[in-house]
Amino acid sequence: MDFISDLHLSPELPRTLAALEAYLASTCADAVFILGDLFEAWVGDDSITLPFERRCGDMLAAAGRRHPLYVMRGNRDFLFGAAFFEATGAVDLPDPVALHAPGIAPAPVLLSHGDALCIDDTAYQQFRAQVRQPAWQAAFLAKSLAERQAIGAQMRAASREHQQRAEPVTYADADPTLARQWLMAADARVLVHGHTHRPQSERRDGGWQRHVLSDWDLDHATPPRAEVLRWTAQGFTRLDPAQAG
Ligand code: MN
Repeated sequence: MDFISDLHLSPELPRTLAALEAYLASTCADAVFILGDLFEAWVGDDSITLPFERRCGDMLAAAGRRHPLYVMRGNRDFLFGAAFFEATGAVDLPDPVALHAPGIAPAPVLLSHGDALCIDDTAYQQFRAQVRQPAWQAAFLAKSLAERQAIGAQMRAASREHQQRAEPVTYADADPTLARQWLMAADARVLVHGHTHRPQSERRDGGWQRHVLSDWDLDHATPPRAEVLRWTAQGFTRLDPAQAG
């Protein structure tokens, strides 16, 4: 089983898209789980008619013919709907979800994008609660695709400005108390999440551990970043996606 997240695909990141495409075509994993923020923005399933999104959709469909492909919504692509999953053949993953793989380990692992755990970021949690409401989504999706793209671009510009003002150390992380509650409710001891772009594996007090996924950026980051977390009977390992075959 492979876990990846936070690819933030957009037309401005051609090398990142190419690396994902090569990885999906070559991985020896029997299933791939994309834990949110596959796209930098997703303003509605009619986006799949646009050239870049259609190309990505075709890539996901081809990957799904090689191995089961599971996609979770992130804070950038929370508007994936039934038509996206229909068009790509990907399986819609709720957040959080317990993954049982008795062939690998007796206990499940808990998968999440991770944004819902970052409760110290109260401004973001208010925004999240608003945009996850069916009424807000229906009103947003009633706008034209061009209008939604413009609103999405404005929101991302505001978010970038906010991040540049904040001290890096003040970025919220997954709340350990809430994470432990989620794990206990799922009868799991291992949490896998993305979102924070701070990859690490750690054991926590209380007998649980977490694996935080890396984001991918093979276009602007120096050095380029991309990583796969693989779960086998031997445990968890981090791989270069080019070496995942
Ligand atoms: Mn995110």
